[in-house]
Amino acid sequence: MFNSVYLNELFEKTRERNSSQPEYLQAVEEFFESMDFIVCNDPKIEKNAIMERAIEPERTIKFRVTWVDDKNVVNVNRGYRIQFNSAIGPYKGGLRFHPSVNESILKFLGFEQTFKNALTGLPMGGGKGGSDFDPRGKSDNEIMRFCQNFMQELYRHLGPDTDVPAGDIGVGFREIGFLYGMYRKIKNENTGVLTGKGLSYGGSLVRKEATGYGVCYFVAEMLRVYRNDNFEGKKVIISGCGKVGMHAALKAQELGASVIAMSDINGYVHDENGLDLNIIKMLTEKAPEFSQKYLEYRPSAIYEDSPVRMWGVPCDIALPCATQNELPLDGAKKLVENGCFLVAEGANMPTTLDATKYLQHADILFAPGKAANAGGVAVSGLEMSQNAQHYPWTYAEVDQKLEFIMADIFKKVYTEARKYTDHRNLVVGANIAGFMRVYQAMLEQGIL
Ligand code: NDP
Repeated sequence: MFNSVYLNELFEKTRERNSSQPEYLQAVEEFFESMDFIVCNDPKIEKNAIMERAIEPERTIKFRVTWVDDKNVVNVNRGYRIQFNSAIGPYKGGLRFHPSVNESILKFLGFEQTFKNALTGLPMGGGKGGSDFDPRGKSDNEIMRFCQNFMQELYRHLGPDTDVPAGDIGVGFREIGFLYGMYRKIKNENTGVLTGKGLSYGGSLVRKEATGYGVCYFVAEMLRVYRNDNFEGKKVIISGCGKVGMHAALKAQELGASVIAMSDINGYVHDENGLDLNIIKMLTEKAPEFSQKYLEYRPSAIYEDSPVRMWGVPCDIALPCATQNELPLDGAKKLVENGCFLVAEGANMPTTLDATKYLQHADILFAPGKAANAGGVAVSGLEMSQNAQHYPWTYAEVDQKLEFIMADIFKKVYTEARKYTDHRNLVVGANIAGFMRVYQAMLEQGIL
């Protein structure tokens, strides 16, 4: 499979030891494919067992979360924190609350997060956590009780220089507020140990927009460098209408594009003349499922009750921003058939491995999530800096820094792609650029 015997043997062993963790194995396989050349040409990697260490979390914390719902029923969920790699800084990465959460998904996310954080240039290691708790349909009080109980265990593993979680799927301002409140109460300290906080208690301006805006800043660089072009007049389709998808849509529109289709878990809406994002924003503020309700406001739009069929809508740019493996090979084929020329991952690993390869072979410009969606964690890093210096920056200051960081990530990724493979292969570029920083730090700190 790989040219390197060492990587082949290690992947086989990893597969045997983690046979029930498909998402984690998928992320490792994609990473090893990018590393093949580097590993074949640098014996220090094998000698120091760098790959063995890079793919194994430093610590996996798994705990019980017991909470009482509004009907006085006692519920038990599983909580996790995967502290993946701290070679370049404190563990940093989001918390996900979703019934699908398990160790495989959190390991793939923590693994990818390590290299994503390295790409930002900020001192942040990689981690990820969450619970199989489903926030949908729960009252505010139930969410609060769950978050407080979750933090009563997690707090002992956190600290401003140890581990700083943030939000992810199912964890937004409300949940971060409840989690932070409990952390502050138990520890009796205000060190901003979560990011994505509310502005009234240490949050950063632009954090809620950062991942979606960052995706568009990254795409803008791709359009400029590869096509001497910009967003003006482009037709964009976006899956998922949560924190990432909604802000990517707003920024794409601000930069001159027309967002013609968006999806949620139930289906998608399509309007060739452009969707009214104000309506979608208003609807999603009430509930995540907006697509069918949109027709009540714009009856001329088209609704289909299958989110994955959205990939068949002809467009110039596609931004998968919902969840892992949501863009399968069939969807990729449809995109190519219908003239899409750029795909950028707003979500983590939304494109299956075969779909990624198909898009690359079809010469579609492809931005991996590790690079394209790093804007969220970058502004989280800026939130940590503002908390540490007890001084907030203005909206314009943070937005400018975000734009600069995304352009810088593109430059690093593009440079590595050009050096090691084809200048359009940003998957290899991102993996190598992220790895090199973590590798250097691990090597200099000795065998740990
Ligand atoms: P949210 O929970 O805010 O939004 C996700 C949205 O996608 C929800 O509205 C969800 O609907 C919808 N959805 C879920 N599955 C599908 C599907 N198959 N098709 C279409 N829509 C779907 O999460 P985020 O926006 O925070 O995160 C989205 C992705 O971006 C994740 O992969 C996350 O890891 C990644 N990411 C997030 C960052 C952040 O800063 N938040 C940073 C970097 C990456 P429903 O609620 O009904 O299930």
